[in-house]
Amino acid sequence: MNGLPGKERRWIDSVVREEEIDRYLRNGRDFVDEELIWNELEANREPSDSRLREIIAKSLELSRLEPSETAALLNCRSEEIWQEIFSAGLRIKQKVYGRRIVFFAPLYISNYCVNNCAYCGFRRENTAVTRKKLSDEEIRAEVRALTARGHKRLIMVYGEHPSSGADFIAHTLEVVYGTKHGGDEIRRANINAAPLCIDDLRRLSGVGIGTFQVFQETYHPGTYRRVHPAGTLKANMRWRLYALHRAMDAGVDDVGIGALFGLFDYRFEVMSLLLHTIDLEERFGGVGPHTISFPRLEPAVNTPFVENPDHLVSDGDFKKLVAVIRLSVPYTGLILTAREPERVRRDVIPVGITQLDAGSNIGVGCYATGEKKGEKEQFQLSDNRSLEEVIGDLVDQGMITSFCTAGYRCGRTGHYFMDVAKSGKVHTLCMPNAILTFAEYLDDYASEGTRHRGWKLIEEELSMLPGEELRNRVTELLERVRNGERDLYL
Ligand code: SF4
Repeated sequence: MNGLPGKERRWIDSVVREEEIDRYLRNGRDFVDEELIWNELEANREPSDSRLREIIAKSLELSRLEPSETAALLNCRSEEIWQEIFSAGLRIKQKVYGRRIVFFAPLYISNYCVNNCAYCGFRRENTAVTRKKLSDEEIRAEVRALTARGHKRLIMVYGEHPSSGADFIAHTLEVVYGTKHGGDEIRRANINAAPLCIDDLRRLSGVGIGTFQVFQETYHPGTYRRVHPAGTLKANMRWRLYALHRAMDAGVDDVGIGALFGLFDYRFEVMSLLLHTIDLEERFGGVGPHTISFPRLEPAVNTPFVENPDHLVSDGDFKKLVAVIRLSVPYTGLILTAREPERVRRDVIPVGITQLDAGSNIGVGCYATGEKKGEKEQFQLSDNRSLEEVIGDLVDQGMITSFCTAGYRCGRTGHYFMDVAKSGKVHTLCMPNAILTFAEYLDDYASEGTRHRGWKLIEEELSMLPGEELRNRVTELLERVRNGERDLYL
């Protein structure tokens, strides 16, 4: 990387700790085994309908699939079986998560970045992007703008830069949590940032970090090298590959993985996400990633690479790959962002999505100003509906919106979360909490029409909660919400 100031170059050279990579290798090899993936895809090239149905049945028992089984699903050629896979995705999601969808908002804190990823509007050499790092007061303004619309959960996003290190991230988290106005407050902030070392991750763990997300972008080594130029920090594929292993070792037991679809063959990336999950589960007592994300490449200002990608994923294949991920890892949350247009989100949510964003603005500092500025964005969003419009749409489809953050604040993460999910306690814990946060939202932020439809849905959901005792308890809490109490949970 020519033209880098000496200070930045020295910082880049100081970040990677080889010993925090080597400790996770198995006989010097990575968990993503290119040969194994291609072999599995080849060996399961023509799965019979009966085998596919057996695999679907295994998923419905909420068992994580093996690579050979995921490969078989990816090779399904029967339209009839695809329909069975889609409906199994929904049933699995209902079993594990119920009829609720968790909402969050992305909050971009800084777009300074030392890297030069070919697909990204924030890449260092993109002079068409206006660089910005939010001050404390600007962060407060962003939080106020978001909480005034009803948001309670954030994913805070940072570029990879010496000015966005662990101390800065920890400080900005404190600013976010400290910004309160009446009942308007952020109760949970997740982080999407560059790979960090274990000491830095320990520091973040101490200030109440939620899920720590690092997306691999592509797991295919050749493609990874091609889109992340040599000499950049991100060119070190292994430093990124083990970012979440380090997080787990540092005590951050809620981690999110993801791949950017469109960079390479989607079947390879799905297989790799599964191998990543398996490796985390094997090393950390059965606890894999809390969430998986699957963004597709989107246009970005002055970024020719994304105009004609080699591995564009069609809408039809996108729905299939999401469904295969749903069946492969039944307990893991799946995130579908507003990158996708309304039409695609409507089509894909029913195959097993658990988290959405809405009313998002990914320009740095743009929630408060209301700008939609391409030169301040990493890429372009396609679903530009407001939070209330999306929530209203879900109400019409019989889905409860959840802003619940109780699980995180009560330490129900990692092992505890997996136990809750596997024992079916989501229906006695998470669903009531979703109902309570939805009631808050309806009374505090929704228009009359949405409020009316939303409360009707709450009444329905309440009647379906298991056991009279639970129903009475939630009814009593709902009454307290109606009387103005906030942040009640089981
Ligand atoms: S993808 Fe991330 S690391 Fe790469 S240039 Fe963009 S902000 Fe930087």
